[in-house]
Amino acid sequence: MNSHASLAVLSLLALCSLGAARNGPARNAILFIGDGMAISTLTAARIHGPGPGGKLALELPHVALVRTYSLDRLVNDSAASATAILAGERVRMGVIGMSPETKRACSLPRRPDGSPNPVHPCVPAAVPIPSLAELAAQAGMAVGVVTNTRITHATPAALYAHVDERELESEIAAQLVAQRVLSFVVGGGRRFFSPYDLSGRLRAQGVTYVVTGAALEAAVQAKAERIVALLAPDHFAYTVDQPSEGEAHTLPSLAKLTELAVRQLSRNESGYFLLVEGGRIDHAQHENRARAALQELLAFDQAVAVARRATDEKDTLILVTSDHGSPLVIAGYPLVGDSILGAARGLGIERQDEDGDGLPDYLRTADGNPMNTLLFANGPRSALQLLLATHEGSDVVASARGPGAEQVHGFLDQVELFRVLRSALGL
Ligand SMILES: [Zn+2]
Repeated sequence: MNSHASLAVLSLLALCSLGAARNGPARNAILFIGDGMAISTLTAARIHGPGPGGKLALELPHVALVRTYSLDRLVNDSAASATAILAGERVRMGVIGMSPETKRACSLPRRPDGSPNPVHPCVPAAVPIPSLAELAAQAGMAVGVVTNTRITHATPAALYAHVDERELESEIAAQLVAQRVLSFVVGGGRRFFSPYDLSGRLRAQGVTYVVTGAALEAAVQAKAERIVALLAPDHFAYTVDQPSEGEAHTLPSLAKLTELAVRQLSRNESGYFLLVEGGRIDHAQHENRARAALQELLAFDQAVAVARRATDEKDTLILVTSDHGSPLVIAGYPLVGDSILGAARGLGIERQDEDGDGLPDYLRTADGNPMNTLLFANGPRSALQLLLATHEGSDVVASARGPGAEQVHGFLDQVELFRVLRSALGL
């Protein structure tokens, strides 16, 4: 090869590694998914945190309302909604990264009770569909994920896994080990990896596998090429349940993990795509634990704040959204200054100040108990008792800043968020 030709090849390679194959306005994109972050949860967290007139970091300038229904359910789950956002297809509830023809659990010959599965076997059209992570990796981008749920849980799984049943978390773990798309993986769910020595297999591939926050930070510092950090056997403990010091100190905040992710991924010359999930907002609401949910949302919001500071809005799109709502309502007439976690007040002072303290009395239910301002429509601690609260089907909000953010406006369908991200990154 003469020197001119080799120069040409070199410059072509340089162009490729700079992401010249992409022609979108954004070099990088960070997608934040607040799992179960209904507009009511967001408002309550704002009141609980910065106050009713305060501002959350996720209140970005470009805003849309987003429809969340799945192919078969009006109220969606995280598997189908993450597939909509990350792969651009509306699929059946419980399905991750597979085509719309896929029926949930069609690969399983039997139902959990042992009876034959009527939707088995899967139709030939039930095939894997590419995720944004896979498209980004093909274009030479670095791809990472940070979650405080099990890494095999529905939302993060939609980046790299293709399964007809979200409960198949061992299979999802095996797919995580087999993939070459993600170079930075942080979450919980270690227990799905130990039975098959999947962690040993990761190490054999040259992946730096760590289980503590300190080791993760050291790996980022040492510029490890691929990192998998599984920092908890299951989901992370709720922020409110974590001791401020001692053993659980090894569990870094979502904000800290986001900072490490940006530091690691921005070393890639062709840009990066990062998913950050605040997955425990949803879980706390399933348990009707309002305080825990609001703290989770505020911890998620701090991660957004870190990303805003650590990136340049000229080249990095930040998109924040939720996958579905939760049945939390803010009701009654609490005073400005009352705790959002406290009891609701009556309407006016004249007729309802029976205790004569000059303030409206607390609203009381028929059995004489004060009514909380935050109510769950269903779940273990609500009037409509269920073992766990359900999700909720109202539109959720999406907010964005950076190149391509202007596409986030009006009323959108969840699958359109995929197109917003894809076109911003030029994939
Ligand atoms: Zn949920």
